Amino acid sequence: MNSLEKLIEECSKQAFDLNFTHAKKWKSGDKTRALVGYLPIYFPREIAHAMNALSVGIMGAGDRKQIIRGDAYYQSYICHLPRGVIEMALDGSLDEFDGFVFPAICDCVRNLSGMYKLAGKGKFQRYFDYPQNFDAAIGGVFYRQELEKIIDDISAVNGMKLSIENLNHSIKLFNKNRELIEKIYDIRQEYPWRLSALETYYIVRAGMVITVEEHNKILEDVISCLSADRGEPMDNIRVVISGSFCEQPPAGLIKSIEMAGCYIVDDDFLLGSRWIQGSVAGNSNNPLGELVSAYLNKSTFSSAVYDVGNPKGKRLVELAKKRKADGVIFSAASFCDPALLDRPEMQKECDAAGIPHINFQYHENTGQFKVIKEQAGTFSDSIKLWA
Ligand code: SF4
Repeated sequence: MNSLEKLIEECSKQAFDLNFTHAKKWKSGDKTRALVGYLPIYFPREIAHAMNALSVGIMGAGDRKQIIRGDAYYQSYICHLPRGVIEMALDGSLDEFDGFVFPAICDCVRNLSGMYKLAGKGKFQRYFDYPQNFDAAIGGVFYRQELEKIIDDISAVNGMKLSIENLNHSIKLFNKNRELIEKIYDIRQEYPWRLSALETYYIVRAGMVITVEEHNKILEDVISCLSADRGEPMDNIRVVISGSFCEQPPAGLIKSIEMAGCYIVDDDFLLGSRWIQGSVAGNSNNPLGELVSAYLNKSTFSSAVYDVGNPKGKRLVELAKKRKADGVIFSAASFCDPALLDRPEMQKECDAAGIPHINFQYHENTGQFKVIKEQAGTFSDSIKLWA
């Protein structure tokens, strides 16, 4: 087994490889393999896995790519993520990808799917709508049809057919994956000094660009390493981060929040990996139906999903309580409509529950963290002194 430091280093390398070298190498191993890129937030990767395709999370270019042509595709007053994602398509980084899935979270992503279509990137460009009705007979039927479209897309690329057996096997692997990630979050809840939020971020993000089998092995190794103490407990407050579910904050921002005296005990950075809360039912005669049912009944909350019967503010408060958080940091990408429009409602719920909160905005390529660090530091000090 590798040391924790080695595992973290390897994960950080994979997580930010914008050429997706590992995924491309995996594809070259067999002619029936396919690469499916998906945008934030959630895509049920089980269906791709069951059809010999690797789903690759395209989380934006962050601060690691100069945007040359991407800016020409978008007006200035929108978030940064789509510019980097179109840049990656135009500079050839995604040439080996067979198709792309664009989950419906906002108009920017909808437009991005159109641009990929116009630019002829991949053999399919699927705009993937989530249901807004959580009744199995309505939203459930709709969602299943959406999944079937993607299944047909992948089948047209590699000729594979979805079998019950394969899908049950894939569901089992991804259940394990979520369980292991959750275990790491649970360990961090008790001992946040053993693994920093940034290290956790690297480990979870790596899982979006390598196979689930490889990621499960890494997660198991990480968990075994975490049974021994590491680092020193600090006099930090505990916070939950909310609003960073799509455009990702730069690594320096996550580090700055921690260095300012805040243990990040939960977050929505890479929410797709943790979307289903718990397991999808296994060994079923209708595994696709189980994926649908899991979406309808076990989804986490997010501003990008319209779920009127399940208020997000209340769920955020529940999460903060579960993690024994001292406060919430609302951290959203600039111009991110879903996050910024939901924020007041969520703040109201935090106020009602007596949970302190602050907010700020970032770009994925923000380079200056001094102001954010001071704000988070003041938040931490004020809670330590007066809460
Ligand atoms: S960061 Fe927000 S506005 Fe931008 S693409 Fe993502 S969800 Fe849409």
